[in-house]
Amino acid sequence: MTDSDQATPRRDAPAGGADPRRQDGCVFCGIVAGEVPAELVASTDAVVAFRDLAPQAPLHVLVVPRDHHPDVVALAAEAPGVLADLVATGARVAADGGAAAGEHRLVFNTGASAGQTVHHAHGHVLAAPGGELAGSL
Ligand code: 5GP
Ligand code: ZN
Repeated sequence: MTDSDQATPRRDAPAGGADPRRQDGCVFCGIVAGEVPAELVASTDAVVAFRDLAPQAPLHVLVVPRDHHPDVVALAAEAPGVLADLVATGARVAADGGAAAGEHRLVFNTGASAGQTVHHAHGHVLAAPGGELAGSL
């Protein structure tokens, strides 16, 4: 998939009425639906990966489930297969981005006190292709 690809619209969204798999006002639901612009780098039937607006590392990509789950703990409980897809997609993004052997850091901020600002589950994929990530966490 190229950077210019659009998020695939939901194929089976209910006709009329609210979609129970998305939350009103959620920016990541908006990106998944193609309503909010983002630089997409990968996608599967279950997850979408796009570059973070404010990168904290040379490669900084967010991987999110297409369906709204408030955080990774809820995602693991409600859709563990999607979480596995998210992790695999993060590794693929790191490898495709040039990180040696696909090495990367995968971070899930969970809850406001831990720094979560967007309450749609997402993994931060951080890597430094050709170099080393700053910090030890
Ligand atoms: P959190 O702090 O919730 O773990 O991470 C949220 C991340 O989403 C932040 O790193 C922030 O830069 C990123 N972000 C917030 N709004 C947008 C947006 O509209 N587009 C993109 N690409 N990233 C966003
Ligand atoms: Zn959402």
